[in-house]
Amino acid sequence: MKKFFGIWLLRCPNCFKGRLFTNPNPYNLKTITDMPKACPNCGLDFKVEIGFYFGAAYISYVVSCFFMLGIMGTALITMGWVPKWVVGLAIVLELIFATYILRFSRALWLSIYWWYVGDK
Ligand SMILES: [Zn+2]
Repeated sequence: MKKFFGIWLLRCPNCFKGRLFTNPNPYNLKTITDMPKACPNCGLDFKVEIGFYFGAAYISYVVSCFFMLGIMGTALITMGWVPKWVVGLAIVLELIFATYILRFSRALWLSIYWWYVGDK
């Protein structure tokens, strides 16, 4: 449960206290991907290797698909079909949450790495 909230709140996958991103505002596009080199609380390495976060793009794609399908699937189940306004709403919500999804994907990717692959 702690791990689950740690990812949602964009915290360090080891101590769940240190912030993963230097600027907490996800809508500042200049600093959207700025991360400290290591966790300010426990010192866990956030810059695992060059190009490490390229893999987060795949996570971002999957999360975005589930996000869109979740909205349209809910409409399909509750209304029996997917009206155009629901598709429009899904696109608008996707655009609003795109920056958070990018950061969430990085947090998930880093967490998967440190929980299952990396040596601390
Ligand atoms: Zn930490």
